[in-house]
Formats: sequence, structure tokens, C-alpha cells
Amino acid sequence: MTSSLPSFPCLRTAGALARRALPFSLLVGLVVLPPTPLEAQVPAADAAREAVRATASRFAPALVQHPQVAEAMAWIEANFEAQVEEWILITEIPAPSEHEEARGAYVAEQMRALGLEVSVDSIGNVVGVRPGRGGGPTLVFAAHIDTVHPLDVDVTVRRDGDILRAPGIFDNSASVANMLAVARAMDHAGIETAGDVIFMGTAQEELGLRGMSYWLDQNPGRADMLVALDGGLGSINYGALGIYWTRYHFLGDGAHTNQSAGRPHPVRALADAVDRIYELRIPEGQGGAVYNVGMLDGGSIFNAIPERVSFTMDLRSVNPVLLDSLHAEIEARVATAAEAHGVRWEMEPVNRIEAGGTEAQLADRREHPLVVTAEGVYGFLELGNRTVASGSTDANAGVVRGIPSISVGRSLGGDQHTLSEWSDVPSALPATQAVLLLAVSLAELAGGAPVP
Ligand SMILES: [Zn+2]
Repeated sequence: MTSSLPSFPCLRTAGALARRALPFSLLVGLVVLPPTPLEAQVPAADAAREAVRATASRFAPALVQHPQVAEAMAWIEANFEAQVEEWILITEIPAPSEHEEARGAYVAEQMRALGLEVSVDSIGNVVGVRPGRGGGPTLVFAAHIDTVHPLDVDVTVRRDGDILRAPGIFDNSASVANMLAVARAMDHAGIETAGDVIFMGTAQEELGLRGMSYWLDQNPGRADMLVALDGGLGSINYGALGIYWTRYHFLGDGAHTNQSAGRPHPVRALADAVDRIYELRIPEGQGGAVYNVGMLDGGSIFNAIPERVSFTMDLRSVNPVLLDSLHAEIEARVATAAEAHGVRWEMEPVNRIEAGGTEAQLADRREHPLVVTAEGVYGFLELGNRTVASGSTDANAGVVRGIPSISVGRSLGGDQHTLSEWSDVPSALPATQAVLLLAVSLAELAGGAPVP
């Protein structure tokens, strides 16, 4: 994986950003293009860093004075109650991973009504393209439409003042509703951008970012920047938390309890392995890692040594090198335990989400216009400004492919992936307006009138 960690920003994109005229930046007179691609700049001190960041931002507060932007912002606010109703409606369309069709069909219908160029690919991603006038970067917004909740879970939404409660209300139907509201607001205000804006409802995010990974592989070079709409409101994530899910099996010949004394025992090997793994120490200063044994399985007879038992390992780090070395170390400890107890073992890879890199490894990405612009927007709307080199969203799929990618939140809320999931209603309004400002900043307004 180390070798697959790409340089960033990719040269094509950096070149495009440096080369292009910026109609809106000229308009507001605050944004000056850096003389060289950002990765070539090495800020020596904080002041120099701040100067670089100021030039990297595509957002300026004057942008919200622009008539069409102001109109779109006001439209979002005026229509927020309808947005909340749609948020509830979306949540009540069951959409477990691999069963997103109905929710996807709804999203596609809304996009078509706005005149977007809509397609649904074979994995179930709903893609709505809002063509730009040309000459700007292609910006992708991705809100996953799947949930972790099975089809038979009651997804009826209960409203309790400013709080909505239902499985999936927070993760991620809030983002889907926010995204549709932004597309409508842009349409209503007649906003034109230089670059294409692609709105995507992605499938199978909860199964390891499958939908987004599939789309990126099918459409190489299409996305210049990717913004995943996912997670709680307040942080901007530009990295990618690597996640390895693995199941380890221990196998033996079994034996009746009466003949079991001293015989090879898969359960003892499993217990020994788990014990040895929890003695692992995570090295300092390498970005950190966490791991967890979440499931045990095996054995079906009270009075026999089982022939097969297994445990699962959820191993996570932003550092691809550390992730791989810990994975190898865990495997070694499993092998040692199996040998000590005379049983065979097997490793079953269940899921892999690649790691994006530590903060130090991603230092150049931190200064990318995408990140700095998002910080500008979040700062302006006072949405908090925690910028972190982590993340576990569709943006990860972009990060590990060298595409400038971030995730930003949808609302305040909590208990995601549980039946008591909840979300705060008012916070979704500024979250939605932030997405609009990202759209017009990053895909660049085309042919706008001068700011008063
Ligand atoms: Zn999510």
C-alpha cells in the first residue's frame, strides 16, 4: 500500500487550478492565484503558511453578496421546512446496502426534475450532472444513500421538537436531503458554474465505499475534487482512515469431551491468539492505530471440542505502513497461537479500506485549495473549524486515488448505526448553505455580475 499512496494533488488538477482564469475570484478581487502549483511551495514559517493559505482559498465572504448566491442562500432558508419533510421522506424509504433501488429511484427522479443529466450505474449509484459552462474543475458531491439497517427495521421518523429520531436519519439521509436542496437552490437562482457539478447518491458506502470506488474506477480523471457529505457537522476531513476487517479461523479434528484431554483445541488457540494480540503495543508518533475483536463464532456441541472457531479483527489506522505492519503482526501471533495448540488456521479478508496517510504524510494536502476553501466557508458560517487528517467516508476512495477529497458534515446528531439514531434539525440549515458555498466557490461562478 505504501507504493500505492499517490502524490497529491495530482499534477493534472494542480496544473488546471494554476492555469485557469478565475472569473469569480477576479470579480471579488480577493483571491490571487499562486504563482506555482501548491505542492511546489514550502512555507517556511506560520506567516508564510498563512499567506499560502490565503491565496489557496476559493472562498471570499463577498461571494455571499453576489445576487445569485444570495438568492440561493435565501432560498435554502425559506424552503428549509420542505427540506426537512423530504429528509423524513428519504429516511422512511428503506435502503440497506445493496437494496438502495427505491431510495435511489427517488433521488434520480428529483434530479431529473431539475434537468440534471441523470444516470444510475450498475452498482446503484445515482449520478446527476449539472454541466458547467466550461473551463472550471469538475466538483463531485457524494451523499451515500445506503444505510446499515436491514429491510425489516422500522424506519418511521419521530419528531421531537428540534430532534428527529429514526434509524438512518443521521447517517446519511440528512446529507441526501441537503444535497438535493443545494441542487434546487442553484437551479432556482439560475447559478451557472464554470466547472461541472456532479451530485451523486452513492450505493454500498457502508460495505466499504464500494459505490464510490466503483464510480471512480469507471470514470478515471472525471472528478477534479470530491466532497463527501457524511458525518457530523463541524469537522473537515481530508485524510482517510484505513480499516482492515479480517476473520481468523482455527481448525482441528474435534473430539468428544471424554477423549478431549490434551487434544489440539481450536478454542484454546483462539483464546491464546486474542490474548497475544492484546499485548500488542502501538508505536508512538506514527499516526496511531486501534483494533478490536468484535465477534466470536464456532462450536455447536456442548460435549465436544469444536472443529472450527473464529474471531473477527477490526484494525484501523491512517498510516498505511503501520496498518500493514500491525496486520502482519496480528497474523504472526495467530500463527504462533495455532502452532502452540496444534491446530490449523486460516485468514479470511473481509473488507479493506486503504489508509490515506498521517498528518505529516498529508502535509501538502492540508494546504490544497479544496481544504482551505472549506475552512473559509466553515469559518464564515461559524460551523466550527476542526480540520483533521482522517475520515471514514466516500472521500477516502478519492484520497487514496490522489484526488483532492474531503468530507463535511450534514447536521448534528448521534447514535449512528443504532436504532436510536437521532439528528438535530436546525443544524442542517447552515450545513446545507455550506454545501452551496462550496459549490459556487470550487466549481466557480460563471458570468456573474459584479458584487455591489
Ligand atoms: Zn455515513
